[in-house]
Amino acid sequence: MERTLVILKPDTVQRGLVGVITSRLEQRGIKLVGLKLLQISAELAARHYAVHKGKSFYEGLIHYITSSPVVVQCWEGKRVIEVVRRTCGSTNPTDADLGTIRADFGVEIGRNLIHASDGADTAAYEIPLYFTEAELVAWDRAVDCWINE
Ligand code: UDP
Ligand code: MG
Repeated sequence: MERTLVILKPDTVQRGLVGVITSRLEQRGIKLVGLKLLQISAELAARHYAVHKGKSFYEGLIHYITSSPVVVQCWEGKRVIEVVRRTCGSTNPTDADLGTIRADFGVEIGRNLIHASDGADTAAYEIPLYFTEAELVAWDRAVDCWINE
C-alpha cells in the first residue's frame, strides 16, 4: 500500500489548525500510520528541501519551516500521494481550488500550511527523514471495507 509524508507547517500549529486540517485528511478515508510533533532543525530542513536550494524562495522557506514546531504525519492508502496532494491544493493558496486545504485556510505561498510528498520517489526519500520503520504502525481499521472496495 502506498504511503506519503505530510507536514503540518509552523503556521498550522501556531494558528491552532492541527485538528481541523488533520480531520480533512481523516475524512478522505486514508489511514494515519505515523504522527509526531517536532521542531525541524536547519540540517533536516536542508535535506528535506535540497531540491529547492539556490531558488529565490529557499532561504525564506528554510526560515519558515524551522521557525516553530510542526506536526509530521505518514498516511497510507490507495494512490494516497495523489489523494493528499489534491486535498492540499496548489502550492499558492490564492490559485488553489476552493475546498482544498490551502485555499480554505491560506492566502500566501510562503504560509501555505501543509507539505505533502509529490511522488513515489519523493515519499520514499522524505518518510525516513522523519520516521524510523518502528515508528510507523501497521494496523487494521474496522471501517476499511466501507472505504476501500
Ligand atoms: N515556496 C515559496 N515560494 C515559492 C515557491 C514555493 O515560499 O515561490 C515554498 C512553499 O512553502 C512551498 C515550498 O516552498 O510549499 C516547496 O515548494 P514546492 O514547489 O515544492 O511546492 P509544494 O510541493 O509544497 O506544493
Ligand atoms: Mg514540493
